[in-house]
Amino acid sequence: MQKLSMLMKGEVSAEENVQKFLDEARRKKDLNAFLRLNSSALSEAEAVDRKLGKGRAGRLAGLAIAVKANISVEGMNISCASRTLEDYQGTFDADVIQKIRQEDGIILGITNMDEFACGSSGETSAFGPTQNPSAPGRIPGGTSSGSAAAVAAGLCDVALGSDTGGSIRNPASHCGIVGIKPSYGRVSRFGLVDSAMSFDQIGPLGKDIESCSALLEVISGKSRHDPVTMQAKAGFNAKPKSLRIGVSDEIRHLCTDKRIYEMCLKAIAGVAEKTGSSLVNVRLKHADLAVQAYYPIQYVEFFSATRKFDGRKYGRKIEESCGEEVLRRILGGLEISRAEHHGAYYRKALKAKALITKDFEEAFKDADVIMMPTTPRLPHRIGERIDPLSMYGYDALTVPANLAGVCAGTVPIGKIDNIPVGLQVIAPAFREDILISAMAAV
Ligand code: GLN
Repeated sequence: MQKLSMLMKGEVSAEENVQKFLDEARRKKDLNAFLRLNSSALSEAEAVDRKLGKGRAGRLAGLAIAVKANISVEGMNISCASRTLEDYQGTFDADVIQKIRQEDGIILGITNMDEFACGSSGETSAFGPTQNPSAPGRIPGGTSSGSAAAVAAGLCDVALGSDTGGSIRNPASHCGIVGIKPSYGRVSRFGLVDSAMSFDQIGPLGKDIESCSALLEVISGKSRHDPVTMQAKAGFNAKPKSLRIGVSDEIRHLCTDKRIYEMCLKAIAGVAEKTGSSLVNVRLKHADLAVQAYYPIQYVEFFSATRKFDGRKYGRKIEESCGEEVLRRILGGLEISRAEHHGAYYRKALKAKALITKDFEEAFKDADVIMMPTTPRLPHRIGERIDPLSMYGYDALTVPANLAGVCAGTVPIGKIDNIPVGLQVIAPAFREDILISAMAAV
């Protein structure tokens, strides 16, 4: 990554780097990308400069990193963009933050998001919507709306988001940047406020694949605080190579804007030609069940995760202070988990999840990666009324990867009506090495 080598060579100091972004973030305040800037970022940068001078700095030395407001940073306001946690200060550093600090990355500030990571547009934040710097007047996508906007507007080097059903890939696609949702279990969730703990993963958003893979390398790995994490092969190399690229016809009808579908097909054909890759048809037979399977599971897990926000230990009582979408999920999750339903909805959703996982297992026998659009439609105008079901439709192409626990990323491929479009790349679980080299090929 160019910035990293400039910092290492002393062509720019960490302090200058951080100062420039702080100024820029203040100048572009109207984007509403940041909720808070880190008041000690500059002194942290000075300390990193001293280390750089002695040649003893870490792998992220001096990089300015924006952090989504649901990842705990000691001493910063971690509100999840909710009135419920409006005054809550992080009491410890999440595993990912500790790892970033060990490698001398600088936490620049805390970014806006959909409240408690529920939404797809960035509009459910209690602190106002984030603007899309790449498509003025439109939503940036969600829920990692502020992180995507901060990267796209040049307010930080890289950012952390979280992805439960598409929340890294969806805003990255709408803002014309790169984003990666790691395989479930690659990155520790310790210190991440749960949305749905069986899907949530923290991951990077950046302008290029190198910066995302550098950040992913650092935050990956086993943690004694998160029992589902695994130590897996790292050493990601953003070098394109020839692959078997899977394309599924089953997702065609889920992509409501056909122009996006056509643009993605063209891009895939281009990648295949340039890298000498072959195209193979794969069948994601149950792709149309993904949204219907995802939401009941998300509702139930979210409902359970919010029981600690009863107004005693953390902030306010959630039911009395949250917005409409969060309340819908709490009440929905409560209803679905009632004993009288005997698990009817939840168990059915788990069955559909198993079918989708199986589809991917089969597909990855014939293909190294699968490529498809990231979002089925272009971002709507901020404030336009979108009914909940259409809003959930934004996730139709991203939730399958979360349901199956595999890794996926998005790369910008062009624009329609001057609005960015991203191509999604999906690879088998813990094969981020393949994912990243395929993304580099795109
Ligand atoms: N839009 C999806 C939801 O509302 C995904 C959110 C996310 O990935 N955090 O649940």
